Amino acid sequence: MRLTPRPDLPRTPAGAVVWPRRAGVLRGLFVSLALLASLLVLGAAAPTATASKLRVRYITSNGIRYLYLVDLAALYGLRYESNSQRFALRSRYTSLIFTVNETEAIINGTRVHLSDAPWVAKGYAVLADIDVRLLLSPILKGSSLRRGDVRRVLIDPGHGGKDPGTQGRRSRERDVTLQVARRLQKELVAKGYQVALTRSKDTDLALAGRSQKARSWKADISVSLHCNAAGPGVRGIEVFRVPPVGARSTYGLQRATAAVPGNAWDADNARLAYEVQRGAVAATGATDRGMKNARFAVIKECPCPSVLVEMGFMSYAAEEANLSSAAYQDKLARGIASGISRYDAALLRR
Ligand SMILES: [Zn+2]
Repeated sequence: MRLTPRPDLPRTPAGAVVWPRRAGVLRGLFVSLALLASLLVLGAAAPTATASKLRVRYITSNGIRYLYLVDLAALYGLRYESNSQRFALRSRYTSLIFTVNETEAIINGTRVHLSDAPWVAKGYAVLADIDVRLLLSPILKGSSLRRGDVRRVLIDPGHGGKDPGTQGRRSRERDVTLQVARRLQKELVAKGYQVALTRSKDTDLALAGRSQKARSWKADISVSLHCNAAGPGVRGIEVFRVPPVGARSTYGLQRATAAVPGNAWDADNARLAYEVQRGAVAATGATDRGMKNARFAVIKECPCPSVLVEMGFMSYAAEEANLSSAAYQDKLARGIASGISRYDAALLRR
């Protein structure tokens, strides 16, 4: 059903819960519409004249501002659906699925890890403002992204030389990352990009040297390639971005308090990570472990939008075999390249 947004007493689709009027926990209540209108525009579903009458309520808990999903849905012309612990915002072209108390959400079929889990406040699901502004918004629209197209792509094959990285039964991370980097370079050059590698041989390269290369070569974006290892049964692809200030890391859950160079590109990092995650999973059929947040040195210090791709688990035998195979490496390279293209296509031209 489509809710008519009314700040007084909207009802959930379940119809069971009454909206809080002036509960003590509801402070401030309304986020500036101008701010929110700039957050999301969903193509044909974008709100027009009626948007000026819509208000998005928020609640503050432990210093974090959360927005009511039902209001966001109304503002952007999406249907709001709730089913016990699951909440969805949908239109013909968009599907956002959230689960109460889970940081994992699904945006148009691709998994993303939120900074903060949605929860139910006074009977209505709420989502952290920082996840709306610096995750959903850049994924759903391009206007918060950098201007101008991508020309120079820096590829950073993880590890090398004395640092083998993760080791599987038959292969080493440092070799796989370089092999995929070369294939990705070919894909990107064929699409018309200028490409450089932080290392083109099996050599040592400190983390600082990798971000330095992005700076000296004036890369438009940088993509670091890695392979993963974990306990039995764990497999799949995950792509990391630097969490914005105030957002939590996916592992460890610390909230970033001080800005790092990579935070100059929060919106772009989110969109690039999302597109690369989506592209790599679609091309390989691998398990989608989702786009995540981590303050890894190589992306934290990067002077341009950057992501770190964990291409698969060397600790999972079948995935290690895939990672060493030329055919699978080609799929990975094609998928990552298509994600880069889609990010590029989302940028507003100069
Ligand atoms: Zn690694």
